[in-house]
Amino acid sequence: MVSRLVLVLGDQVSPGLSALQEADKARDLVVMAEVMGEAAYVRHHPKKIAFCLAAMRKFAARLERDGWRVAYTRLDDAENSQSIVGELLRRAEAEGADSVLATEPGEWRLIEALSHAPIKVRQLPDTRFIASHAEFDAWAEGRKSLRMEYFYREMRRKTGLLMEGDDPAGGKWNFDHDNRKPASDDLFREGPLKFDPDETVNAVLDLVERRFPDNFGRLRPFWFATDADQANTALDHFLEHALPCFGDYQDAMLEGDRFLYHAVISPYLNAGLLDPLDICRRAEAEYRAGRAPINAVEGFIRQILGWREYVRGIYYREGPDYPRRNALNHQRKLPDFYWGGETRMNCVAHAVAQTRDEAYAHHIQRLMVTGNFALLAGVNPTELHEWYLAVYADAYEWVEAPNTVGMSQFADGGIIASKPYISSGNYISKMSDYCRGCAYKVTQKTGAGACPFNLLYWGFLDRHRDRFQGNPRMAQMYRTWDRMAADRRAAVLDGAQAILDRLSAGETV
Ligand SMILES: Cc1cc2nc3c(=O)[nH]c(=O)nc-3n(C[C@H](O)[C@H](O)[C@H](O)COP(=O)(O)OP(=O)(O)OC[C@H]3O[C@@H](n4cnc5c(N)ncnc54)[C@H](O)[C@@H]3O)c2cc1C
Ligand code: SF4
Repeated sequence: MVSRLVLVLGDQVSPGLSALQEADKARDLVVMAEVMGEAAYVRHHPKKIAFCLAAMRKFAARLERDGWRVAYTRLDDAENSQSIVGELLRRAEAEGADSVLATEPGEWRLIEALSHAPIKVRQLPDTRFIASHAEFDAWAEGRKSLRMEYFYREMRRKTGLLMEGDDPAGGKWNFDHDNRKPASDDLFREGPLKFDPDETVNAVLDLVERRFPDNFGRLRPFWFATDADQANTALDHFLEHALPCFGDYQDAMLEGDRFLYHAVISPYLNAGLLDPLDICRRAEAEYRAGRAPINAVEGFIRQILGWREYVRGIYYREGPDYPRRNALNHQRKLPDFYWGGETRMNCVAHAVAQTRDEAYAHHIQRLMVTGNFALLAGVNPTELHEWYLAVYADAYEWVEAPNTVGMSQFADGGIIASKPYISSGNYISKMSDYCRGCAYKVTQKTGAGACPFNLLYWGFLDRHRDRFQGNPRMAQMYRTWDRMAADRRAAVLDGAQAILDRLSAGETV
């Protein structure tokens, strides 16, 4: 009998992967390939590339231990064709295989490449999620608006997570209202569990150092988990040390603490080293055992059971053009300081420096600092999308694009967000200690030293008045703006324009 190939991609390192479940260990050949086509289509952060290659190498070794035949291509192999389809064709010829079993990739680009490959590829559903495409589409069908909250409640009912019969545990579906505390910088926090590189990781680090010397981001020190055992240990560490405070300080930002009470598990989860339902059940067990409060556990579970599943549903439902949408017609080039160039804005400088060092920033840094600035300044959302896709270790298009294009930039015209996530410096000042060390003054609303977020915020609202003034959730903002004295409004708009002019001229902002 002619054997089949079984494709396992870099973000599919899960033993329960549908393609592996369907395959026949005795006759099929697993194909895994490190290729430049994937490593270089955006300029990924070196830590992201290293994480991915190390996890792949370890997973291939595990499959072999489990009795699979694995054809593994290393990036430097002389015969490497440097593309996924190229490697499938090469292996098919050598093996005499005439078809490929695959699990649906997390990016339209690859789905289409496999669909058009000159060999038969069967793409199976990716069952490592809680909601299937059909379930999401059935929920979305016929609804006027696709708000995450209602989808999330359906997922709670479906899984029984944090349910008491038909009612939500703690009497409420959502405890977000309790979760907006700033953090004080004198608290002792454990931070994420860090792992010393082993032999496999060290070999990958040397390779990445050699092959991607100019990519933005620091490769070392490298401390990510790179196999399922380590990832599970990292999760246990989070559940024990950080989960109880996760809710309270979820939106807080501190100069001296890059991780606060966040889990830092998204690279592991998105690659397949952890399972989303298992994570939620383990978090729920902490609540049931009285070790973590409901606001923390509900908030954490909502991110995974709600947001993560929801953005995936939107990505596949909206189709391949989604990452290039630009509803607000924003055309500004991404400023150089996103790639480490100089900026006097302390909040942005910190979020970018942390991104460069760790390939990680938490949600509020992504949404309310770098995302907020880009939206207020009118940056082209496709350029910004490519930046987020490149710089974060957890970034795969199915999860990154809806967060960037939809949630953060309103470039999908309001499918995900009911209003743009914009704020003046006041929000950043309330939730962080960044403003204390900033060259700008957050309390200053006009003039040379005024916080750019203050100026650009009103500039944005003024520029997009036609689109947003009828939005009931924004009526208060427009009322405040309209109540301001005319000369003050003129001074604010002049200040906003001056910032935009400086950005256009490539001057430091
Ligand atoms: C502009 C922008 C881009 C983003 N890009 C990505 C991305 O490429 N990949 C990614 O996994 N997340 C992305 N997010 C969501 C979120 O910022 C990260 O999931 C989170 O910061 C990961 O860190 P953590 O593991 O410490 O998360 P925690 O804060 O500890 O949350 C726990 C888990 O919940 C899930 N989660 C939380 N928020 C979201 C969300 N909005 N969408 C999907 N899952 C969520 C993640 O799996 C995360 O690991 C983005 C958010 C924004 C605003
Ligand atoms: S003053 Fe403005 S630019 Fe400076 S850190 Fe605060 S919010 Fe950011």
